[in-house]
Amino acid sequence: MPTFKELGLRAEIVQALDDLGFENPTPIQEKAIPQVLDSKTDLIALAQTGTGKTAAFSLPVLQQLDDTSNDIQCIVLCPTRELCLQITNDIQDFAKYMNVNTVAVYGGASIETQIRAIKRGAQIIIGTPGRTVDLINRRVLRLQTVNYVVLDEADEMLTMGFQDDLETILAETPQEKQTLLFSATMPTAIKNITKSYMNNPVEVAVGGRNEGSKNVEHHYYLVNARDKYECLKRLADMNPNVYGIVFCRTRRETQEIANKLVQDGYNADALHGDLSQAQRDTVMGRFRNHQLQLLVATDVAARGLDVDELTHVINYNLPDEDEVYIHRSGRTGRAGNKGISIAIIHGREKGKLRDIERKLKKEFILQQVPTGQEICEKQLYAIVSRLSKMEVNEKQIAPFLPQIMQQIGHLDKEDLIKRLVSFEFNKFLEYYKNARDLNANDRGSRDRNDRPERGERRDREDRGNRGDRGERGEHSDRGPRGRKYDDADRFTRFHINIGKRDGVNPATLMGFVNEQLRKRDVEIGKIEVLNTFSFFELDSAYAQKMLQEARNAEHNGKPISLTEAKSTGPMPSGRKTKDKLKDRFKKDRPGSSGKRHGSKPPSGKRKRRPF
Ligand code: AMP
Repeated sequence: MPTFKELGLRAEIVQALDDLGFENPTPIQEKAIPQVLDSKTDLIALAQTGTGKTAAFSLPVLQQLDDTSNDIQCIVLCPTRELCLQITNDIQDFAKYMNVNTVAVYGGASIETQIRAIKRGAQIIIGTPGRTVDLINRRVLRLQTVNYVVLDEADEMLTMGFQDDLETILAETPQEKQTLLFSATMPTAIKNITKSYMNNPVEVAVGGRNEGSKNVEHHYYLVNARDKYECLKRLADMNPNVYGIVFCRTRRETQEIANKLVQDGYNADALHGDLSQAQRDTVMGRFRNHQLQLLVATDVAARGLDVDELTHVINYNLPDEDEVYIHRSGRTGRAGNKGISIAIIHGREKGKLRDIERKLKKEFILQQVPTGQEICEKQLYAIVSRLSKMEVNEKQIAPFLPQIMQQIGHLDKEDLIKRLVSFEFNKFLEYYKNARDLNANDRGSRDRNDRPERGERRDREDRGNRGDRGERGEHSDRGPRGRKYDDADRFTRFHINIGKRDGVNPATLMGFVNEQLRKRDVEIGKIEVLNTFSFFELDSAYAQKMLQEARNAEHNGKPISLTEAKSTGPMPSGRKTKDKLKDRFKKDRPGSSGKRHGSKPPSGKRKRRPF
C-alpha cells in the first residue's frame, strides 16, 4: 500500500494528514488521487459514503491549486448544509499548512455573510446547489475561472431534485475544466448527467458497482400493512440495544411514527424537513451522542448525518428507487462492524424486494416477527444483565437503607431477586400476554400459544378500522414501556405555554424535561401537544425540581411558563374533549378568576436557559 507521499502529494499536505492521523490512503483515495494528479480527464468515482471520498477529491485539487491567485479555482457541490460544512472543515484541515481560502455557501444561513466572504476572496467554494444558483443569479459568484468541478454525493443531489440547479451551475463553468463526480450508486439520472456534462470520463470504483456493503445482512418481515407499527415495536423490544435509523417515506409519516414511539416509551425522535435547522441540529446531536436509540427519518433529512456504529437500518417503507435502499442500508455495517438492514413489508411489496435483490446481488432473508414469548425472554435477560452491571452508590443509598431493610429485609435472596426482576419484567409480560402472531406468511404461525383468543383479535382489528385515535382502553395498544392509567397518581400533570405553533412535539417536550432535570431516566407519562400550549405528566418525585428549573428556561427565545395542571387523570383525546380543555384553560389563565396551581410565571428579567 503506497503512502500519501508516494502518491506524489506535497510535504505541507502530507504533514497535515499526519496531524490528522491518516497513515495510508483508503482504496478510493489510492485510485482517485493519482488519476486526478496525472490526467485532466473527467472522473467518475463510485464509493459508499464513509470511504474517504472527501480527501480523494480535495487532496489532488489542493496539490494543484495556485495559491498565489485569488480566483475561484474549484467548486464542490454537495446535497446538504451538514455535508457542505463537513467538507469545508475537512479541506481546511488538509490545507492547514497552505494558504488557501475556502468559503461554504448553503441555505438557511445569512446570504449577506456568505457574499462578504466570497468578496474577500475564495479559491475553493463548497456549496449546496440552491444557494449556489442564488449567488450566481446575484452575480456574486462567477465560476468562469474554475479548473475543477466536484459533484459529491451526486446521486443524492439528483434524488433531492437538484437536477435543474446542477445544470444551471455547470453551464456557468468554462469548457476547459476537470469534472470529478462522486457517487455511492449509479442510477440512470446520473448516467444522463455524465453523458451531457462530462467528457469521456474514467471510472474508478471501490466495493463494486451498486453493491451494498459486504457487512450488511438484509432481512425482511412480512406483515399485514396495518401491523407495520406493531412489528416495528416488537423489533425494538427484541433488540434492547438497538441504535438505528427508521426510514419513512413522508415527513408526515416520519413525525407520526416518531410521536407514537415516544408516547409508547421508546427512546426515539423524528428528523425531517419540516423541522427548523436548529431542531434538526438538536435531534442529530442527540442521536450522535447516543441519547436517542431510534431516529425516525426521511431520506433527505438523514443525509446530513454520518454515524458509523448503527446496528440497524429499518425500512418502515421501501423507497421508490432501488438505489435509495442501497444507500440506506449502506449506513450500517461500517468501519468493520456487522449491520442489519430490515424491510417491513406487506405482500404486495415482495416484487419490489426482488428488484432490490437483483441490484444488491444479495438475498433478503425472511425473518419471523418475534413472538411475545421470545421478546419477554430477551428482555428478561437484558434486565438481568443490566442489574449485574449496575453500580451501587453506597454513600447516596446509605441514608435510605434502614427503612428499606425494615420493609424488605426479611425476604430471602431468591424471593428478592424474583421481585426485583419482575419489577421491570412484568410490563413486558403483561403487554405481550396473548400477543397475536403478526407474520403474514405461510410459516408465520409457529406457536399456537402466541395467538390471541378470538375475541381479542377481533377487538384489535375493530380498533384498527377506527384508526388509532381511540379513547380510553387504547392503552392496550401502547408499548410495554408505556404505562397504564391506573398509576396516574404517581404522575404530576403540567401545563406549558408552548405548542405545535412553536414547533413543539412530544419528543421536544421530553428533551425539554431531560434538559431541565439534567437526567434522562425520569419517567414521563402522557403528553398532549395542542396548538399554543401542551400538557405532559412527570414522575411526581421530580415535580418541584421541574418547576424550579423551568423558571429560567426559554424555547426559541420565548420565555417558558410551566405550571402544575389541575387534572391528573388520563388525558382525553378527540376533538370534543380537546375543545373542552381549551375552554377550561381559557378560564384558567393568569388574570382570570380561575385559580392556578404551581409556580408564578417567571419575571422576564432573569437570564433564561434555552432548550
Ligand atoms: P469521508 O468519506 O470523506 O466522509 O471520510 C470518512 C471518514 O474517514 C472521515 O472521518 C475521515 O476523516 C476518515 N478518513 C478519510 N481518509 C482517511 C485515511 N486515509 N485514513 C484514516 N481516516 C481517513
